Amino acid sequence: MHFANTASPRSLLSPLRAVPLRAIIPAPVLALALALVLTLSGCAEPTATMEPEAPAELILTNGRIYSFNWPDPSVDGRTGRLEAETAGEWLPDAQAIAFAAGKVLAVGSDAQLSALRGRSTRMVDLDGATVLPGLIDSHTHVFELGSKLERVDLDDAVDEADAVARIVRRAKTTPAGQWIVGQGWDEGAWANNYPTKALLTEAVPDHPVYMRSLHGFAVWGNERALALAGITADTVPPTGGEILRDANGEPTGVLLNRATTLLEDAQPAPSDNDLERQLLLALTQMAEDGYVSVHEAGATARQMAVLEDLEARGELPLRVYSMLSLREPELMERWIKKGPDSDADSMLVTRAIKGYFDGALGSRGARMLADYADKPGHRGISGESYAFDGALAARAMAAGFQLAIHAIGDEGNRATLDFIEAHQRSSQERHRIEHAQVVAGSDMPRFGRLGVVASMQPPHAAEDKTWAEDRLGPERVRGAYAWRSLREQGASITFNADNPGSDHSIFYGLHAAVTRRDKNRQPAEGWYVDEALTLEETILAYTSWSARAAFSERDTGRLAAGMWADVTVLDIDPFAIIKQDPGQLLNGKVLMTVVGGNVVFASNDLQKQL
Ligand SMILES: [Zn+2]
Repeated sequence: MHFANTASPRSLLSPLRAVPLRAIIPAPVLALALALVLTLSGCAEPTATMEPEAPAELILTNGRIYSFNWPDPSVDGRTGRLEAETAGEWLPDAQAIAFAAGKVLAVGSDAQLSALRGRSTRMVDLDGATVLPGLIDSHTHVFELGSKLERVDLDDAVDEADAVARIVRRAKTTPAGQWIVGQGWDEGAWANNYPTKALLTEAVPDHPVYMRSLHGFAVWGNERALALAGITADTVPPTGGEILRDANGEPTGVLLNRATTLLEDAQPAPSDNDLERQLLLALTQMAEDGYVSVHEAGATARQMAVLEDLEARGELPLRVYSMLSLREPELMERWIKKGPDSDADSMLVTRAIKGYFDGALGSRGARMLADYADKPGHRGISGESYAFDGALAARAMAAGFQLAIHAIGDEGNRATLDFIEAHQRSSQERHRIEHAQVVAGSDMPRFGRLGVVASMQPPHAAEDKTWAEDRLGPERVRGAYAWRSLREQGASITFNADNPGSDHSIFYGLHAAVTRRDKNRQPAEGWYVDEALTLEETILAYTSWSARAAFSERDTGRLAAGMWADVTVLDIDPFAIIKQDPGQLLNGKVLMTVVGGNVVFASNDLQKQL
């Protein structure tokens, strides 16, 4: 693969002259390396045979590196990078980056960093690929992602025969007797001709099969699954549920609405081995997708045990910042007694708790200050009636934990801000509101004043736009997904995808955030495009600002000597592409992910050099 270098060698190097090396390698520095680089950067040609005193373990060369080691943009999006503003275009500020002992050793030109090459240094020629600080997904559900990745995917199955063929393929690699789980068949599109257990039972007789529909309102099983669930002609469905039956009263294999639980509850809970396998599967996928760190938004006691076990064995491929589930009182009590983790640079850091204050906007569960525009008399549900345990959350705050509270509606956000204001001791505690999806104008400045981080999802704006205005009406919708307004009112922001609910692709996220368009590039002019952020802000919201939301912005999120050796390499230069056609952002690919100096993912081409 060849990566076109749109900048000429001269223009590529010009920003290096504009930014003195001192600016790229600030304090805190590895003093020895700094002295070495500064000394040698003046040399005409470093001697190839010389062994440096502090050689790099890995050097990436010939890249388009954006170190982001410059001041943050202003709240209206004006860049803080002086030379970008004067030049009127974005160019990389370095070509090469060297790593040693899990940290960045130096960032500079190829010539400068060749001085750090020792006998055992691994060199990778990036061939003009783009390097960003390592991406951080600040709100994800990794175990759910892993279990989703394991399921048979029926998302685009055209008919019953197509779906059964996919299940048969899975059955061939699954021990007999083990459940086969899948999801994605479209209960809306298939409603006039539901599948039955007949073909499925004939094709897959030896495994219980459970296939969830696209929106979860229907499930489809085979004979073996129905037998294990004890569903017969005599079974009475729960209120609000339906068991589809044939002319003889026999269940056909499809259960609707609340009856879906009959089949769901028949499956065994995942074992610890299942959880570990699913976690590793998810983290491996996230590594392939360019992420160096994930913030797990609500770990249970069993999930924490699996995370801790993998950390102890040194087998976590990515950094995990774990939020403990407020819904698990025993887990909470244990951690309140012991206090938050203080070892900020270990692979697993636990110092936050995740609670839910209200429901979601689509299903009208988000708590609103006034009635839903499309359901008069209805304002959603929140607080204690949504099982939010305020007393426990307050005790966790007092014990030093960061709160990360799901709040979607404008009343949900207001009440959560009230709660934080009442219980925090200082605005430096960086409590978070997850989603901050609909915020009343008068509450926006409170984020900045209280130091509350707004943890938001660019994909949600792209996906919810078709119905959000129905729920909210033309006025309130202006305070929804309001990234720019929140920034202007002083909020600190972090971006993520709330995966697996939405696709965590960084290219989808970048595109949604800068254009307010969906994957089909609609609407062409962007949905309430005034709330878009610049590309620079968006990348920061996925890197340094996400690091800040986990108290680690001094260690990661920018590329400078002494920071963690966390980088993401892309085949496109988003800054170059966005000038031509922002839609092209969607076609980007991740080529390499480095975590603490370890290459956790590399494309085939780059892998050959390692
Ligand atoms: Zn979530």
